[in-house]
Amino acid sequence: MDSRLTLKEKIRDVYFELIADIAYYSHGTLLQAIVDRLQVVLNTSNTAIYVYNDWTDQYELGTASHHASLQNILTPPYIWSNTESVADGKVAFQNSSDSRESVIIPLYPKYKPACLLFLTVDDNRSLFHMDSIAIIKHETEQLLKLVNYYRQSKTSEQRNKFLFDMSSRLYSMTRKEEILAEIVQGLQELYPNFSYYILLSQDYDSTEALPVKTIEYSDDATKMVSTQAFLTGEVQLEDRIKEKNTCLYAPLKGKQGIYGVLQVITPHEIGFPQEEISFITKFSETAGAAFENVTLYQHSNHLVEDLKLLNEATHKLNSNLRLNDIIMTVRHQIMNACGATQVGVVYLKDGDREEYDILTGSTNYFKTSEGKMFAASIFERVRADREPVLSGDFNATDLFVPYRSVIAVPMVQSDIVHGVTVIMSEEKYYFSFDSFKLIQSLVQHSTLALTNAVLRNKLEMAVKTDYLTKLYSRNYLDEMLKLHMENEEKGTLILFDIDDFKKINDTYGHYIGDEVIVQVADIIRDHLGMRDIAARWGGEELAVYLPDADIEDGLKLAGAIRRQAANFTEPSITMSCGVASWTDKANDSASEVFLRADKALYEAKSIGKNCVVREKGRPKKSVDVAD
Ligand code: GH3
Ligand code: MG
Ligand code: MG
Repeated sequence: MDSRLTLKEKIRDVYFELIADIAYYSHGTLLQAIVDRLQVVLNTSNTAIYVYNDWTDQYELGTASHHASLQNILTPPYIWSNTESVADGKVAFQNSSDSRESVIIPLYPKYKPACLLFLTVDDNRSLFHMDSIAIIKHETEQLLKLVNYYRQSKTSEQRNKFLFDMSSRLYSMTRKEEILAEIVQGLQELYPNFSYYILLSQDYDSTEALPVKTIEYSDDATKMVSTQAFLTGEVQLEDRIKEKNTCLYAPLKGKQGIYGVLQVITPHEIGFPQEEISFITKFSETAGAAFENVTLYQHSNHLVEDLKLLNEATHKLNSNLRLNDIIMTVRHQIMNACGATQVGVVYLKDGDREEYDILTGSTNYFKTSEGKMFAASIFERVRADREPVLSGDFNATDLFVPYRSVIAVPMVQSDIVHGVTVIMSEEKYYFSFDSFKLIQSLVQHSTLALTNAVLRNKLEMAVKTDYLTKLYSRNYLDEMLKLHMENEEKGTLILFDIDDFKKINDTYGHYIGDEVIVQVADIIRDHLGMRDIAARWGGEELAVYLPDADIEDGLKLAGAIRRQAANFTEPSITMSCGVASWTDKANDSASEVFLRADKALYEAKSIGKNCVVREKGRPKKSVDVAD
């Protein structure tokens, strides 16, 4: 090296070489290169650089030690207790007994010097003139600033790339578990020595082993800081004395809300450098936005599914289902939609405002006496409040119910609570508010379908019953006989006609006449078996069809009814009666059977009335013979 050069020029000379090759050096090797060059230029016996560590708040030896006495870590007051602290940016000297002299030059002070340059000389005392020190300090600081700037931009470039790569992965994900796994993996990569939890605001079920917890809202002071982060949306720091560590809480924040908090736990108490805090903030914002995206995506998927389900349900319900099928459809849809274990429908009895039935199609619990009692009590409650019930921890005061989650939705039509649909699960807090809302709309649709079905049943009953006697109509009996003749083996038809009924009308009036017809209808009804069908055939003519009965059974029954009518009507009447039967052995038809019974009745009239006559000449079965 040219000895005519000034100290400044010499240093600039060697530093310039380093700057030219800055990209090829790692941080450690670059510091070492500085030290090696300085040692030559300054002719020092010992040269070292200590680097301030943000995490540990200590100066650590950043270069190889040339001297055994060199400490690896400088702790406050950093060196020689009899000198002023270099932490304030002041140069410190020491003369040792063997005439060596050392100096520590703080470099590049920010809030604390970023580096300390440690120099020891054996003989070159001129080095420690303040002018020389100022030159060494200034030149080395210039170089380190450049190095730091380069290093920082490299780190931030790497971190930005990290965030960018992570966010592009996150945005391709459609499940919360994937997002959470990616967050955890990212943290592991960034801070392998830390532990962390993702605290979520909603219940989260996952099969994957992820460090996920639910945020608990409690007064417990240890949970306050995380709650604070969740509520304010600001990063929070907490030094935990008992655990001897530091926690950082970064909210998982999206545009529409805060979904949880990222808890980063250090292995011991440290101060988080501002740069790390801003990076973790960016990290959690990226994660929060992705989490929001997936939440919205899943929510809209749910909505679409719910709409599909509702659409399907209303489609089915509108297709003129029978009462039973409606309950089965609703039960099926509800169980599908929310995984309920019990579904029951309590419904007012037709034309009654007090009595109710548990409709067939309800699940088994509602068939037990306990279930019936529960259904009754919840029906009364819903009727009184006219409000639905949504409970995650259901408790009935006076009866044991083995179901903790209960939804009960009133079935309102024309402002009347006609019934209640009850949905249950053994598990606590099983139903989400979304499924509650979905069930409400399902019940609304089913109520409409149910009242329609009830009306339809009524209408059908009106068509097939006679208004006066409440027996079936002639049409219905006719249809049933035809149907029966197609499918069964035999049957018997009885026709009754009240004798001299004109006289009753003439004597007592039409109204009393009607009452006598009702009396006769009641007598007939009392004689019927489960499957027998009685109908009002005409004005004062009544008919009974006995499925699977022989003519003998018919004659017997007709006789019994005739006698009863003669003895127990008021005013007293008598009846004539014709009986005809069919078997599948004869080639017969419904109209033929009627005709034969009618003829027999006519004969009963002609032989003096108040008697039963058996048909004549039942046809024999014709057999087709091939030519
Ligand atoms: P017969 O012994 O031959 O049957 O004499 P009858 O007087 O009963 O004559 P028929 O059966 O031919 O006539 C039925 C009469 O019954 C005609 C009508 O005045 C009366 N009648 C028919 N339907 C009703 C009804 O719904 N209510 C009342 N009060 N009377 C009816
Ligand atoms: Mg008649
Ligand atoms: Mg008559």
